[in-house]
Amino acid sequence: MPDNPAEAPASDDRPRESDAPAAEAAGLAVGTVFLKPKKARPFFGRHPWVLDSAVLRIEGNPQPGDVVDLATHDGNFVARGLFNPESRIRVRLYAFDAAEKLDDAFWRKRIERAISLRKTLGFDDRSGAARLINSEGDDLSGLIVDRFADWLCVQFTARAMHCRVELICDILEETVRPAGILLRSTERGLGKLEGLHITDGLVRGRLPNGPVFINEHGLQFGVDLSEGQKTGFYLDQRDNRQAAARFAGGRRVLDMFCYSGGFSIACAKAGAASVLAVDGSAKATALAEANAGLNGAASVSVETSDAFKKLDALASAGERFGMVILDPPKFARSRSTLDEALRAYHRVNRQGVDLLEPGGILVTCSCSGVVSRDDFLMMLSGVAQRSGRSISILECRGAADDHPVSVSCLDGEYLTCVIARVV
Ligand code: SAH
Repeated sequence: MPDNPAEAPASDDRPRESDAPAAEAAGLAVGTVFLKPKKARPFFGRHPWVLDSAVLRIEGNPQPGDVVDLATHDGNFVARGLFNPESRIRVRLYAFDAAEKLDDAFWRKRIERAISLRKTLGFDDRSGAARLINSEGDDLSGLIVDRFADWLCVQFTARAMHCRVELICDILEETVRPAGILLRSTERGLGKLEGLHITDGLVRGRLPNGPVFINEHGLQFGVDLSEGQKTGFYLDQRDNRQAAARFAGGRRVLDMFCYSGGFSIACAKAGAASVLAVDGSAKATALAEANAGLNGAASVSVETSDAFKKLDALASAGERFGMVILDPPKFARSRSTLDEALRAYHRVNRQGVDLLEPGGILVTCSCSGVVSRDDFLMMLSGVAQRSGRSISILECRGAADDHPVSVSCLDGEYLTCVIARVV
């Protein structure tokens, strides 16, 4: 494999301008994307996504993954980024200084900067897991890297970034020294969105023999990387599990959408009277079962059921809980489905609140980026109104701190976790 994928792209055999490879290897632009008049403001504000609708014209013949300059309609430099003609995000921006080249040294420095933040945050314990690179939150739009003990899972959400897969793996190998690197596409529809077609699997080193075990706040979880489990492990909820567990002592807990049992096991170990963990996927409940066993969390019982049906059945049977945890999958994939998603959140939260005894604790989450914190709280206010219950927010939380969010790209803030008391 070439050292520099920009010189000889690994992912596609595209035809190139004769002088393009040299310019590209030096990290210089091979073309310029001019913005329509009055469209430059977000990019002076360092927003990294240049949508096709903002583009006036393109000079040169940039190919997918090539370095381009972004300029105002009258030719003033704005920023430097990577081009993808197949994405609505036509250019992703990485540098806002004309002197900064997007060469190998640049990517190395950016990746090292992200990894050094995790050291600062205390994630250098190799028995644990951490998100090492969080896309826009680390000024590396389109690249996500999670470390599970000694293994790295790399997720590309941008084709232009994927054009540099060999370079990125080289840098990750040198800086992290993992036992293996796996590619994993957890985002759906990348073929259509980005023209990106990835085969998941091992790209460097070796596969683990069975699940990789990680330590999270003193608890053990098995994470199945070799099976290609699409969802892996929800590292973003790490601290929310611990925050929820603080309220679990002595309570009967319902963990709806439990996946591999993160919230359930944390609550059981914090002294919950009992925990019912429910997920619609048999694979998920098998993981939850195994993880409960691994931690000696005997008070956890696991069930495979559809959440909406199970919530109804529990209500009909007159069951009551001291704590209800709701962590459903993303209900809204785009702005056009926002209203529909808010109705679904209302419905599931109403069902959850109806199962809570007076003074019970509701832990309710949304991982839909288009549902803002305000939208989510308004939805809960609707639930309070309809159910006639008083709901008070104790904590309003986001993703764990190894998932930083750039203030220039608040689109990266997708997770809301509200802990509330319901009387
Ligand atoms: N709380 C978990 C993460 C939940 S992810 C943790 O801390 O790790 C969302 C989960 O919802 C997935 O495991 C998925 O299998 C489950 N799910 C999706 N639709 C469902 C449905 N209709 N009923 C029950 N579970 C469902």
